[in-house]
Amino acid sequence: MERKLASIQKIDNLSPIDGADLIEVATVKGWKLVVKKGEYSVGENAIYCEIDSYLPVREEFEFLRKSSYKKMGDQEGFRLKTIKLRGQISQGLLLPISILKDKIYPDQYKNLQVGDEVSEALGVWKYEPPIPAELSGVMKGSFPSFLQKTDEERIQNLADVFENFKKSMFYVTEKLDGSSATYYINNGLFGVCSRNLELLENEGNSFWKVARQLSLEEKLKELCINICLQGELIGEGIQGNPYKLKGQQVKFFNGFNIDEQRKLSLIEFIELAERLGIETVPVLSVDYKLPNTIDELLVYADGKSALNPNANREGVVIRNHGCTISFKVISNNFLLKSE
Ligand code: AMP
Ligand code: MN
Repeated sequence: MERKLASIQKIDNLSPIDGADLIEVATVKGWKLVVKKGEYSVGENAIYCEIDSYLPVREEFEFLRKSSYKKMGDQEGFRLKTIKLRGQISQGLLLPISILKDKIYPDQYKNLQVGDEVSEALGVWKYEPPIPAELSGVMKGSFPSFLQKTDEERIQNLADVFENFKKSMFYVTEKLDGSSATYYINNGLFGVCSRNLELLENEGNSFWKVARQLSLEEKLKELCINICLQGELIGEGIQGNPYKLKGQQVKFFNGFNIDEQRKLSLIEFIELAERLGIETVPVLSVDYKLPNTIDELLVYADGKSALNPNANREGVVIRNHGCTISFKVISNNFLLKSE
């Protein structure tokens, strides 16, 4: 699931901000953002750019220079971050659809619909911080097709199904801010992958180092099934080590049965982790009911990390017990304080 950074969306709501005359707050899907008063109306379609959009340096985006200019290697652009204006959280950017007029074919322009992605037409990229060498590793191959890459959709992009989710019972884990790690055994072959690649074993590579420390190859072989474990590599040198850990370690969050092409349920996964003697991400609740609104859920996501009471947690990942529904709720408090 590739993230649609810039897409056509409907403005669902506009409301005033206490004490502010010139700006108001717009609701787009589950997102809230500050706009100029009167610039948009409810029900209208516009281009919505999500946070982490990296916009090109162009005359029409110059108004972002003061708040968002960021140089990345030899690239420069404007990076959209979570901000607070007059006490109101603001995430993303709305642009009138008319700015696409001379960027795409007229017949395409006329047919634009809610959900259509326009990142390419606008020249919008995803902002990705640089990866240290010991994490990037040496590529052995592409990510195996018999596995699933780790990813979670943001709750703000699931506003249309949120009501339906309320019928289910969930479990909640802390979302750790590290680097995605995948380990598998398939027909006797052990493999290690970062988020998007399979990695060659070499001494300097953190993903492999942890695998050897945990004797994962031996342990997975003993299970005598084709299986995959996925977790978050955290610690020194990774994402600024927010939990102030010594060394590096993996906390697991997924089990995947390769032959059945199926995620393990929470119970199966916890049993497996105990049997293997490996650690899971912190489990915060196993009988969680969703609150009424996404805004309330966002408040729930704020909090301290179970790994370090001095660190703000990145957020939570919420799943039903069978793992057929799964999404992330990133803490706004965390986003406001992160660089
Ligand atoms: P993001 O880091 O925003 O790209 O969100 C998705 C990623 O969160 C996944 O690819 C995992 O690597 C990572 N992650 C961290 N903690 C968890 C968790 N408790 N459950 C699931 N995924 C997690
Ligand atoms: Mn992450």
